Amino acid sequence: MSARADVIIVGAGIVGAACAAECARSGLKTLVLERGPVGGGATAAGMGHLVVMDDSPAQFRLTEYSRRLWRELADELPADVEFDPCGTLWVAADDSELVEVRRKGAFYREQGVRVETLDACGLAEAEPNLRQGLVGGLRVVDDAVLYPPRAAQFLLQRGAGAGALEVRTGVEAVSLDADGSVALADGSRIHGGLVVNAAGCAAPSLSPGLPVRPRKGHLVITERHPRFARHQIVELGYLKSAHAMAADSVAFNLQPRKTGQMLIGSSRQFDVADTAVEHAILERMLRRAFEYLPGLSRLTALRCWAGHRPATPDKLPLIGPARPGGRVWLATGHEGLGITTSLGTGRLLADQILGRTPGIPVEPYLPARLEKGGARHG
Ligand SMILES: Cc1cc2nc3c(=O)[nH]c(=O)nc-3n(C[C@H](O)[C@H](O)[C@H](O)COP(=O)(O)OP(=O)(O)OC[C@H]3O[C@@H](n4cnc5c(N)ncnc54)[C@H](O)[C@@H]3O)c2cc1C
Repeated sequence: MSARADVIIVGAGIVGAACAAECARSGLKTLVLERGPVGGGATAAGMGHLVVMDDSPAQFRLTEYSRRLWRELADELPADVEFDPCGTLWVAADDSELVEVRRKGAFYREQGVRVETLDACGLAEAEPNLRQGLVGGLRVVDDAVLYPPRAAQFLLQRGAGAGALEVRTGVEAVSLDADGSVALADGSRIHGGLVVNAAGCAAPSLSPGLPVRPRKGHLVITERHPRFARHQIVELGYLKSAHAMAADSVAFNLQPRKTGQMLIGSSRQFDVADTAVEHAILERMLRRAFEYLPGLSRLTALRCWAGHRPATPDKLPLIGPARPGGRVWLATGHEGLGITTSLGTGRLLADQILGRTPGIPVEPYLPARLEKGGARHG
């Protein structure tokens, strides 16, 4: 790209890729700077579950909107993105969880999200490998799964095919400046109309004081066992694990991959800087999974790994100018939902840049909310 970029995006994880694709397709000259490979950060470590969640109205709106955008894109996704509209099965182990199944089901129905409530028999029919004694479940029909790093690459290719988009890998940004320029590790500087910090967990190193904390998570993948599970299966207790902000937690979450492999999650830990696999956490996580799917213990695990989710204090991402009217923007803080919400993020970012009316209200995701809450950042 010879002319100055309208938008420079730092970070080519799924969030940066979605933002870049949306900007380029909207006619903005877009430059992406990535220090590693495309989709090599949290995006490579994640599970790729495209899921509607309702911890808060704002989380519901962004996940539902984004999942709709993924469904619209589904026909264009190449086979190696491994998009599979398998749906989510939320599993209730006792009566209190059944109450939550009913509440969630009623809310989703009211909002036009397709769901089916299952009793114990219906659950066993849907997933015969689940243990007996579970009391029911909720099938969220249009949830899906995909392979995130390949999805990030595809979004960039799609953006480049439709607009002015350049991606430079092996380029490290060291600071983002108020005039929309980026200083690089090699001592050079690139000037743009505005610069977007989409550096995931590394975002605070470029926007000092930004309250984004890494939240570690482990996953295990098995050999190929096609049809061992048919849905992404999640225990309702997962919500307690995702909410717990203090203690380490594990919850049963299983994803059947298109390859026939089973991806087993997940754990959540704050304040663990490295991505080393911790055997005590892994053991807790697997024990939990075996409680739900006893046959899982007979499958062979191929690989386990850990990654970091970029978490914000209010569990919502930061999408928009770091300071009102400024030329440094943010697209980060997506915690455990960044694969799902990447497309909504890209669309809301481009809408704000271009002054278009957004598909959903942007206010809950604006970085300015943190200023109001007292958590200042640069
Ligand atoms: C175990 C686990 C399971 C998960 N499961 C799911 C799931 O099922 N569904 C879901 O929706 N989400 C899931 N997530 C969350 C999801 O993976 C993240 O929210 C998402 O990948 C964040 O994307 P990102 O682009 O913001 O960050 P990243 O993918 O980390 O991308 C940031 C990029 O910025 C680059 N970068 C950083 N600093 C610089 C710099 N100074 N200069 C240049 N480049 C830089 C990095 O190299 C990196 O490529 C999971 C996460 C984990 C860890």
